[in-house]
Amino acid sequence: MKENFDYIIAGSGMAGLSLLYHLLQDEVLSKKDIVVIDPVNKNTNDRTWCFWEKEPGPFDAIVCQQWQTLQFFSHDVSREFKMKEYRYKMIQSGDFYAHVLKEVEKYSNVVFRNEKIAAIEEKGNKAVVTTDAGEYTGTYVFNSTGLFHPVMNKENTLLQHFMGWFIKSSTPVFNSEIGTLMDFRLNQQHGTTFMYVLPTSSTEALVEYTLFSPETLKEEDYISELEKYISERLQISEYEITHKEFGVIPMSKARFKRYLGEEKRIINLGTAGGFTKPSTGYTFQFVQKHVANVVNRLKKNQSPAVGPSLHEKMFHWYDMTLLDVLLTNKLSGEQIFSSLFGKVAPESILAFLANESNFWEELKIRNSVPVLPFVTSGMKQFLPGKP
Ligand SMILES: Cc1cc2nc3c(=O)[nH]c(=O)nc-3n(C[C@H](O)[C@H](O)[C@H](O)COP(=O)(O)OP(=O)(O)OC[C@H]3O[C@@H](n4cnc5c(N)ncnc54)[C@H](O)[C@@H]3O)c2cc1C
Repeated sequence: MKENFDYIIAGSGMAGLSLLYHLLQDEVLSKKDIVVIDPVNKNTNDRTWCFWEKEPGPFDAIVCQQWQTLQFFSHDVSREFKMKEYRYKMIQSGDFYAHVLKEVEKYSNVVFRNEKIAAIEEKGNKAVVTTDAGEYTGTYVFNSTGLFHPVMNKENTLLQHFMGWFIKSSTPVFNSEIGTLMDFRLNQQHGTTFMYVLPTSSTEALVEYTLFSPETLKEEDYISELEKYISERLQISEYEITHKEFGVIPMSKARFKRYLGEEKRIINLGTAGGFTKPSTGYTFQFVQKHVANVVNRLKKNQSPAVGPSLHEKMFHWYDMTLLDVLLTNKLSGEQIFSSLFGKVAPESILAFLANESNFWEELKIRNSVPVLPFVTSGMKQFLPGKP
């Protein structure tokens, strides 16, 4: 069967549904015929998204907790800081999917198909999506499936892998006003290793054991580190695990394409479009900026195919440099983040990691880390044939 739409959204995960939500906020674009294709129904709470932003965000209604005060710990540095402008926010994916899908109920021009996409291509002045059940044509296809992912291997990619437990203690132990962004006071034998502790009440918190390394660990290794941290560092003996998550995010030097096709009718979103920050794995905040830009361009009848700006290219170079320092083991993650948090105003570090810092903040950041490893890794990015 062949069907024709204005927009095809290939993949209904965080990026696909974020774009859909933004489209539906516009009077004209919300009337377009839109099909969303994904074999998976988004009705489970399969991940937790944390991110930081200055302004009220489009999904504030479903932010389950936010923190103005954060902590950083390493073997050498201990720092607590209250942010002036940024707020660190948490969204449960289950709430996000439900929120967007409820909004969609108002629109009969948006349809969902539970089908697996086999191919996406451009034919003439149309984008064509072939699934296991049919063919769809549209003016644009917005893709967040892995169909166009570049080759990722141990030379160009580190894995950010983590196991997180939402725990509920039998007595009040947490201060829900203060989140721990990184606690490196752990064994660093596998690579960059830290805990997040994000309390949502005096008895509840997300505790997440996170590593940047070439390979994942055995399940029992994540479990034993979480148990040890909860009992020894957090000093909690009685608790129940109310929810668990496990994830692997590629932190890659591989080149993700933002758009494809001669007429640029295939627009990549989310991880597929390179919006997972290579040096940190954070994705949510970068996707929101990208889809807002896509929608703004569509409103003005401009092509939604947007290449990286000069500003984005510069931050991409910072990312590639930092990732190269980690990949080549010139410095450990603990050394880099301890240098930063030991010497630079934490809000400037967050601005830098959000691609929002200014020239002076970047200068301070550059001066805070050991020069030689960063200069050699930074120069390498200009060499031809680099991974
Ligand atoms: C457990 C976990 C926790 C995370 N936490 C954070 C966090 O705290 N902060 C942050 O910024 N980032 C986080 N991330 C990283 C990132 O935000 C998420 O991976 C996010 O879901 C990426 O959005 P996406 O739309 O690119 O991919 P996804 O949300 O994975 O969506 C891709 C969609 O494509 C569909 N699909 C795949 N193949 C096909 C096909 N052939 N045909 C049709 N559909 C297909 C999939 O079913 C899926 O629904 C986390 C990731 C994980 C896994």
